[in-house]
Amino acid sequence: MPIRSSVYAACAVVVAALVVGAAAPVAAAPPDPADLGGSAVSGTVAPVAAAPPEATRPGGPSGAVGAPGVDDPFFPLAGNGGIDVQDYDLRLSYNPATDRLEGTATLRIVATQDLRRFDLDPRKFTLGTVTVDGVPAAITRDGQELQITPKRTLRKGAAFTVVVPYAGVPEPVVDPDGSSEGFVPTKDGAVVVNEPQGSPGWYPANDTPRDKATYTIAMTVPAGVTAVGNGALVSQTSAGGRTTFTWRERFPMAPYLTTITLGKFGVTTGRAGSIPTYVAVDPTQAAASAPVLRRLPEMVAFLQDLYGPYPFETVGAIVDNAPELGYALETQTKPVFDRAPDELTLLHELSHQWYGDAVTLRQWPDIWLHEGFATWSEWIWTERHGGQTAAQRFAELAQEPGNSYLWNPPPGDPGEAANLFSGSVYDRGAMTLQALREKIGDAAFFTVMRRWYAEHKYGNVSTPEFVALAQQVSRQDLGAFFKAWLYTPGKPAFLADDGAPVASARLAASEGGGRRR
Ligand SMILES: [Zn+2]
Repeated sequence: MPIRSSVYAACAVVVAALVVGAAAPVAAAPPDPADLGGSAVSGTVAPVAAAPPEATRPGGPSGAVGAPGVDDPFFPLAGNGGIDVQDYDLRLSYNPATDRLEGTATLRIVATQDLRRFDLDPRKFTLGTVTVDGVPAAITRDGQELQITPKRTLRKGAAFTVVVPYAGVPEPVVDPDGSSEGFVPTKDGAVVVNEPQGSPGWYPANDTPRDKATYTIAMTVPAGVTAVGNGALVSQTSAGGRTTFTWRERFPMAPYLTTITLGKFGVTTGRAGSIPTYVAVDPTQAAASAPVLRRLPEMVAFLQDLYGPYPFETVGAIVDNAPELGYALETQTKPVFDRAPDELTLLHELSHQWYGDAVTLRQWPDIWLHEGFATWSEWIWTERHGGQTAAQRFAELAQEPGNSYLWNPPPGDPGEAANLFSGSVYDRGAMTLQALREKIGDAAFFTVMRRWYAEHKYGNVSTPEFVALAQQVSRQDLGAFFKAWLYTPGKPAFLADDGAPVASARLAASEGGGRRR
């Protein structure tokens, strides 16, 4: 079994160079008002409708204003206060020849406080008439915030429907680490991934992992192009040289896990046990990915045995040819790969369906709860298939010198958004789990892993909750243990540092499988 490498930091530099061209701002074409079903208002950041004076505002001065963010330490303006989206219905069309995306988003929302104004997070795009329960609303744009003022104040607990018509050329979102996300054009379409903040690059989202919702995504594309979304394909209809693919994810999904990747794909459907599969592969990647993709049902079965029943209705993969992207992502039910994945990359992204997609962080600095778990899943897969054991992998990494990438930032405290996908979050995060396994024993450890999943499936979590569960199951005080592993910078003092680098651990896998999120 080849040894995995961890070259995330180095790859990020390469990605940054690649996206300079791909991510260059493109001016949005002015919309045809007829297309948008109302009088168009335009502008990217400038306010398009001045807010009326306080005393005359709809709902009056007593109504509350939803916060522009949910106080995430890394992305304070992502997501919005006062709203809980129940369902997104996105009716979109995209033409790869012009790169133009247009359509209508319909959001069913519940107010979590009295609201005379609330925000959504679409970036760019020209908007048509935004309505709340069918009545035109006043809108203002302030940076990445779209402020919506309904005619009447919404009362806490009220359900309401917002319709946002929009059009334009989607502009990929460039992350703090220089990588690109959102709606990223490819040679034959677009690859669509959003971790952590790409969703507003293609639809008006409440862009926080805390607000999971169900989704219908209908995408109309030129004939010959396939659009692949989350969940189940509920219809595929062609007319007038265009095809509409309608996808439905009926399980809760965080906005960053949505996709509607499109291009030329060969599609294979089948079953993983009783779960329907849908695997879409760019023809250029078909030969290289076939041997790995054949193992997808076996991987799903393996992960179910280990962690608990698969959380969603469908499973699959989207293998694109997307050097513009430079990484794979665990989009819900169908992870997206920028190229033919290797075995461990596929296993990694599938394991995220349990840890990441079903059990999702509440705040981005807790990213090790996704990446440490997915990396450790690679280790246990390898261990159970005759390769290096997780204990051996741990011992190998433990020899890394103190100045290695491995130790900083500490996985529980990445420090800043640019470090979200640092190698230490993955590998030291996985070491934390393996150290826990060795400390409390297999029986308690696997109980922790299974209960963590069973008790938080479809919800959101934090590191202190994981620590509490591990302590409860093991009946041990693990405060100092987790502090040392997750929060203390540098190589833990209890691991010998003989200064000898372990170069062999670094170099093997990423050439074939690509960088993974
Ligand atoms: Zn990952």
